[in-house]
Amino acid sequence: MRIVFLEVEPVDEQSVYEMFSGHDVTVYHEIFDIPKLREVCADAEVISPFIYSKIDRSVIDAAPDLKLITTRSTGFDHVDTKYAAEKGIPVCNVPQYGMNTVAEHAFALILDIIRKLSPSWDTVKAGKFSYEGFRGRDMKGKTIGVIGTGRIGLHAVRIANGFEMDVIAYDVYHNEPARAELGFEYVELDELMERSDIITIHLPLLESTFHLINRERIDQAKKGVIIVNTARGPIVDTDAIVYGFEKGILGGAGLDVVEDELSLTTDHPLLGFENVVISPHTAFYTDEAMLRILGTTLDNVNGFIDGTPVNLVE
Ligand code: NAD
Repeated sequence: MRIVFLEVEPVDEQSVYEMFSGHDVTVYHEIFDIPKLREVCADAEVISPFIYSKIDRSVIDAAPDLKLITTRSTGFDHVDTKYAAEKGIPVCNVPQYGMNTVAEHAFALILDIIRKLSPSWDTVKAGKFSYEGFRGRDMKGKTIGVIGTGRIGLHAVRIANGFEMDVIAYDVYHNEPARAELGFEYVELDELMERSDIITIHLPLLESTFHLINRERIDQAKKGVIIVNTARGPIVDTDAIVYGFEKGILGGAGLDVVEDELSLTTDHPLLGFENVVISPHTAFYTDEAMLRILGTTLDNVNGFIDGTPVNLVE
């Protein structure tokens, strides 16, 4: 198969060539705009984007031999799956690579904020070794609201249980076996906002989840709440976070994803607040996860070739 890999890191290039050695592989490191994507994908039978390559209708149309799109991510909002389906082109993702990886990162953000690690490290680096101003709070006994109890969200529940937190969760789908096993409580979103000391978001970006956290939701929240988003930027309205800090409602925000994250500059409104920690979409990014991603992508290509496709989306 002629496979075009997009957004591959140089460090992973060799692994791609080795794992896909039976195929005609072209690897690109860059994040291309749509006209350039149309050009580099023109000969592809398989396109393997990562999170920033927009495989829209025009890119799909520009590749007349296209047979499969296999994104090396869990989220697939960057692929026009409806149009691909119309053209009979299956779309696969990597559903499982990050369930512990992303949840672990969410807790890295939570702990950074609740124990004021980033600002205290800045102070130590400046030559001042003092705990003054860095009093934190315990995790144990706090109520954490997990929004989305899919693969990543449930792992977040497991970690929260390890901290002996009280876990409440909101999801349109109630996973009763998981609830019984892990001992958490499903509540409506209103109640989750009202009761949570910490909120962690693990939803896909859909029309129904766009700006799910908005000013009205912030108004419902408990004073001092910490909101963590490792899902997709547009699920949280940036203005609502600014509003939450200005109104004294928000105690902290840990964001691995933000709206328009690729055009973030030093004048971004969130950079002015003390209790904000932003990581540059690194929640998925560990040695172990990157290898799992390539392994699953190989399974996706082989499954398609064998006529037993796996990890199809929608
Ligand atoms: P999943 O599909 O296993 O779980 C998503 C959950 O959201 C499901 O339980 C579903 O019922 C629920 N849901 C969907 N729409 C909803 C709505 N409108 N209201 C309430 N609940 C709703 O997904 P996952 O593997 O847990 O991943 C979650 C998201 O995390 C992905 O879609 C992706 O965008 C994001 N992600 C981010 C990174 C990163 O590096 N930051 C890495 C991997 C995944």
